[in-house]
Amino acid sequence: MAEIVLKTLAHTYSANPQSAKDYAIRHMEHVWHQGGAYALLGPSGCGKSTLLNIISGLLAPTEGDVLFDGQRVNELPPEERNIAQVFQFPVIYDTMTVFDNLAFPLRNMNTPEYRVKPKVLEVADILELTPLLSRKAKNLTADEKQKVSMGRGLVRDDVTAILFDEPLTVIDPQLKWKLRRKLKEIHERFNITMIYVTHDQLEASTFADKIAVMYEGQVVQFGTPRELFETPAHTFVGYFIGSPGMNFFELRYDQAQNTAYFGDQSLPLSNAYLATLKKAESDNLKLGIRPEFIEVHSSHEPDTIAVQKENLQDLGTYAILTFSLNQQTFKARLPEDHPDLGDTVYIRFPDDKLSLYVDEYRVEVDHE
Ligand code: ADP
Ligand code: MG
Repeated sequence: MAEIVLKTLAHTYSANPQSAKDYAIRHMEHVWHQGGAYALLGPSGCGKSTLLNIISGLLAPTEGDVLFDGQRVNELPPEERNIAQVFQFPVIYDTMTVFDNLAFPLRNMNTPEYRVKPKVLEVADILELTPLLSRKAKNLTADEKQKVSMGRGLVRDDVTAILFDEPLTVIDPQLKWKLRRKLKEIHERFNITMIYVTHDQLEASTFADKIAVMYEGQVVQFGTPRELFETPAHTFVGYFIGSPGMNFFELRYDQAQNTAYFGDQSLPLSNAYLATLKKAESDNLKLGIRPEFIEVHSSHEPDTIAVQKENLQDLGTYAILTFSLNQQTFKARLPEDHPDLGDTVYIRFPDDKLSLYVDEYRVEVDHE
């Protein structure tokens, strides 16, 4: 069992890196605690596979250290790290039977046969591979092959962590859901650290207790699904998580008038916001609000802003209102029983539901 610490980690594939853009991992400090069920979530190309390969030892980082329980393991080859890795596409031996494929990681470590068999049977049972044990792997379907591949990651008792790199990509949706639940069960049963890479927010939040959101080679937030939803630490998290994502708009703060503007529209912000804006040391100021948190009224109310309704899409249990303000499109998510809306609607951004971003990072506003 291990705690995995990444210390001042950076990685570039370029022989001659010129700027931050040339780094697949840009300066990372991160701790994966022993026994956690984690997801590493981010768009394609943000560095997820690079990071997993550095943890497992397939790749040596350009800078920084990887520590397992406080011990630096940079020089340890993958087979000595006691980490199992499951890849996007199945890694199995076609000519071997399913049983022998599952037994391989154990036999490779000279595990006595009397201990191999019960373990293989246990894992086969969990993954519902028992009827296939005597079949040659080459005759399996893509789904079955990937289950065998996952099983190979699960047979060893001595692993400190299992890294899954988008393992369900080739699996059909129905089975995907089932396998994800199985992984969660296995996690609860064996208390192994699991890091599950995905670009799918739903997959991340159904598997993980805590999600690391990665963007351009950095972990921009590490939090529970709820924290990512309620207080996105970076504008990317707000945009990437949620359906639809968070609305953002640029702010201009006028010092002389102590007023914040969005275009020509002055915004009714509280003194706490204004005080925070006054202290900001950048002009890159944004407000963000989740579609769920925009208040929508059919007639004028205090502190509301009149906007033009562009579209109202009824999606059964909720509706999505699209409106424009200062030539920018916003989305609001309304409950099923929302009031009838005319062409002009009156919206309010509740103070405590807004997030303020300075240089793309969230700044805490003291609401008193
Ligand atoms: P992800 O798994 O999140 O899709 P990767 O870690 O595969 O991202 O890639 C991160 C960045 O590093 C991308 O810009 C990718 O093109 C680049 N990259 C990945 N592998 C290599 C490689 N072997 N050689 C050069 N560049 C690579
Ligand atoms: Mg990848």
